[in-house]
Amino acid sequence: MHFFSLSGNYPYHKACYKENYHPKCDICKHFIPTNATGLIEYRAHPFWSQKYCPFHEHDGTPRCCSCERMESRDTTYVALEDGRKLCLECLDTSIMDITQCQPLYLDIQEFYEGLNMRVEQQVPLLLVERQALNEAMDGEKHGHHHLPETRGLCLSEEQTISTILRRPRMGAGNRFTDMRTEPYKLTRRCEVTAILILYGLPRLLTGSILAHEMMHAWLRLKGYRALSQDVEEGICQVLAHMWLESQLASLSGNNAASSSSSSSSRQRARSPFERKLGEFFKHQIESDTSPIYGNGYRAGNHAVQKYGLERTLDHIRMTGGFPY
Ligand SMILES: [Zn+2]
Ligand SMILES: [Zn+2]
Ligand SMILES: [Zn+2]
Repeated sequence: MHFFSLSGNYPYHKACYKENYHPKCDICKHFIPTNATGLIEYRAHPFWSQKYCPFHEHDGTPRCCSCERMESRDTTYVALEDGRKLCLECLDTSIMDITQCQPLYLDIQEFYEGLNMRVEQQVPLLLVERQALNEAMDGEKHGHHHLPETRGLCLSEEQTISTILRRPRMGAGNRFTDMRTEPYKLTRRCEVTAILILYGLPRLLTGSILAHEMMHAWLRLKGYRALSQDVEEGICQVLAHMWLESQLASLSGNNAASSSSSSSSRQRARSPFERKLGEFFKHQIESDTSPIYGNGYRAGNHAVQKYGLERTLDHIRMTGGFPY
């Protein structure tokens, strides 16, 4: 049965009108319901433009811990052992154990060398679960949480960390199980004892976190002292962002830099999704609303654009702040 309504002098077909103009939810695939005042109200992710019924924010629909997209009814996310959920596209390049992480670590070291900022000490890099990361964080004198979740840490205290030895296996119900961890005792030979990174995140995100933590290590080893949090986190975010940009440039492969990029970044063909994901991680850094990470990044980036990285770092060393 068809229903027609009159709109001015033109009859229109209600069902077609609805099909064409009434937005459907990307999560449950139904028409987005009207609210109490008869308006169609929906939420949309600012980067992915995924649009969905507002109630999915409270009905337990999982979000990917990496790209933030919600799980739609026609996909199944995988569950990591520490409770995080990962979409299949992020899973595609995820770093689950230390053997996958080593080439990336070398890549980041080369990146710092290319900036003339070699980190002299061999800092141990450990992949950890969420709980181990939070415990290590509580054991630090100067740690602070990055919302919504801390994903990396540069340690200066002597601690024992539960580190991942073997990647988990995929078990029933898309759940990872059977991961092997081992206690790892850190001893202090210098200002930095280790860098910890949350396991299971895509290569580009893992790398940007690593680039951020390496900058903390560099600052400490170079004797930068008592920086305010927004200056320290801000300049670390600038380096994370720069590394992402260098990766995106080498992904596109149409520049001279790709010939000098390290072997690990050429290991496999990159998907269009990975490029989009890289753009998303850059967007996250740029649009972070926190006063420490977000404002710190924007002030640091402004200074680096204006004066260059080297002069900005010299200025921070002398004054503890960014040049204006
Ligand atoms: Zn919905
Ligand atoms: Zn994802
Ligand atoms: Zn930091």
